Amino acid sequence: MTAPRDSAVGEQPRGAAGKAAESGKSSRGARAGGPAGAGRSTAAPESRLALVRRARRINRELAEVYPYAHPELDFDSPFQLLVATVLSAQTTDLRVNQTTPALFAAYPTPEDMAAADPEALEQLIRPTGFFRAKAKSLLGLSAAIRDRFGGEVPGRLEDLVTLPGVGRKTANVVLGNAFGVPGVTVDTHFGRLVRRWRWTEQEDPEKVEAEVCGLFPKSEWTMLSHRIIFHGRRICHARKPACGACPIAPLCPSYGEGETDPEKAKKLLKYEMGGQPGQRLRPPADYPGKPAAPLGAAG
Ligand code: SF4
Repeated sequence: MTAPRDSAVGEQPRGAAGKAAESGKSSRGARAGGPAGAGRSTAAPESRLALVRRARRINRELAEVYPYAHPELDFDSPFQLLVATVLSAQTTDLRVNQTTPALFAAYPTPEDMAAADPEALEQLIRPTGFFRAKAKSLLGLSAAIRDRFGGEVPGRLEDLVTLPGVGRKTANVVLGNAFGVPGVTVDTHFGRLVRRWRWTEQEDPEKVEAEVCGLFPKSEWTMLSHRIIFHGRRICHARKPACGACPIAPLCPSYGEGETDPEKAKKLLKYEMGGQPGQRLRPPADYPGKPAAPLGAAG
């Protein structure tokens, strides 16, 4: 997880979750402390219909909390998003966003990147880690786009996954955000949260994707992914979920897995919820938080 570069915890939180954090209540006004789902293990199993309804309610709540949810990689084209997503493996979106301005200035097109000197490319992407393997993927996928797809990133899953270094998760990110094709992106946050919510028990990302897709209409898939990933990064953290400041606690069977004291939980909130900069250097206009600082800036 990204280390906050500004520890202004306690600044005025924004949005519904911020208000919830301040009052200790969910955005629907229910106390974050007596969730309906708590203790489900001793209750009758949840029916399929009840699960679908609860999942959709969580999605609606998240839409209220994060109306500005978006991909947290800076990009201006499908090619830039593809490259940024490949670089995001095993590092933060922040580190990728700090690295890509120089990279795209040096190699603006797939043709330019395919012709790059491998060592020069490696040095440019070094801050993202695993830079030799990532450079190999970028050289390979750029050459494939140049040679097999006329210099344009293909807009079909079956083509994208043939590119070196591109798996289903990367392909779905690109399809959903650069081509408007609905897709669910199962990253570490997404998997953790949907298991905490008992939407699935699967661990395998493809099975998680299939089960979650089955709970929602296609039109929701892309934004649902952003909202869940936003929630995982800001409130429902891997080690210390901020349950006491969580607006969907009344719908969560895992309430209590983290800090339930509202004041202590509020201190765990990240990014715009905690008054800290976000991951994007160029966030969308409606983002209520601060932009991230460039690489090497103080912090
Ligand atoms: S922080 Fe996570 S585990 Fe805790 S109540 Fe919210 S969604 Fe559930």
